[in-house]
Amino acid sequence: MTEGTERAQGDRPLDLDATKLAAARLWATNRFPYLASAIFASPVLPAPELGRVVIDRWWRVHADPAVVGSATAAELGGELVHLTTHVLRDHAGRADTVGLADEAERHHWVDSGDAEIADDYPSELERVSASVEGADLGCENGRLAEEYYRLGSVRDGSTNDCGSGAHGQPASWEPPPPDSGDDAGVTGRDQDVIRRRVAAEIADADRAAVSDSLRRWADDRLEGRVDWRAELAARLRRVVSTVSGAVDYSYRRPSRRAAALHDVVLPSLRRPTVEVAVICDTSASVSDDLLATAVAEVEGLLRAGGTRSIRVLACDDAVRATTRVVALDDLVLIGGGGTDLGVGLDAAMANRPPPDLLVVLTDGYTPWPDEAPRAEVIVALLATDEPVPPPEPPAWARVVPVDRR
Ligand SMILES: [Zn+2]
Repeated sequence: MTEGTERAQGDRPLDLDATKLAAARLWATNRFPYLASAIFASPVLPAPELGRVVIDRWWRVHADPAVVGSATAAELGGELVHLTTHVLRDHAGRADTVGLADEAERHHWVDSGDAEIADDYPSELERVSASVEGADLGCENGRLAEEYYRLGSVRDGSTNDCGSGAHGQPASWEPPPPDSGDDAGVTGRDQDVIRRRVAAEIADADRAAVSDSLRRWADDRLEGRVDWRAELAARLRRVVSTVSGAVDYSYRRPSRRAAALHDVVLPSLRRPTVEVAVICDTSASVSDDLLATAVAEVEGLLRAGGTRSIRVLACDDAVRATTRVVALDDLVLIGGGGTDLGVGLDAAMANRPPPDLLVVLTDGYTPWPDEAPRAEVIVALLATDEPVPPPEPPAWARVVPVDRR
């Protein structure tokens, strides 16, 4: 930084201390060399009066010069490591899938993302901002942000905000990046290119130098695997909002009309109920563990999305149990013979009211009916050890492959 740095009123600096920033980057990349390409790709821009350091969706770091001025190089370096991990782990994109309805949900999501990041680095990693970990949400460590979000308790009055790179909702002062130049940040496909580069660096790094959670993340990037829970959540949310005809839940804003028209009785907008039937393939070839995991996931996702009416059928060559489940314990899985899921689909459609959505959990070794049922169909295709792959599910089904992780 040059002599005579410009100063704002109240003696708050307007420019960033470039020497300290360089030291912070050096500290971070010495300690975590595999993050270097991400950390050096992220421009750090001055944000006077912000009071903190955040990262946006385009990997631009916005830092309050006063905060930078009073932080040590290690604290600032730790902050860059933390913020970079938000964007590497795509917490913004994953927030879209979760669907954050209001500010409180946004803070809880950032807390959950922080907890996921806390598992990636040694606990003594210092930061400019306070860190949140799994224990702060009443959770065991080692979970995904989505799990911390769903299972964790909401921290009272949390105002945690690491920027739109952590939750996807740009601040009002945050313009899109210029097309080129030093401040352009990282956009589009370049983000994935850097993610893969970092993943490759992690895969090459000394095992002892990388946490298990980061190594898992890197392996998934390199193998092109998608987390089935996230994909299933996205599919379910899309179908449920289409079927219910509701405006996308995540963009809902509180209505101010009621306050303005307090003498008038406004018609209340009720979301129509979505009837869901879950059909479990309980034939011998299906792994019970994986089936139970998938059922729990589907039920959790549907309930989190506000679906009250879920009917679960266990099916092999006949429909063995029809249960209107309230809790997972009520689910009766009977079977163990051959499979014909067509029987299960017919049985499900015969219920009154008929379901709007059928979720089929199967390893795929089943004949399928030619004709599509008069409902949306999601097939959660459970992984198997069978040497011969199952037949393709029909084109009218949306398929989400489910593996053992
Ligand atoms: Zn954070």
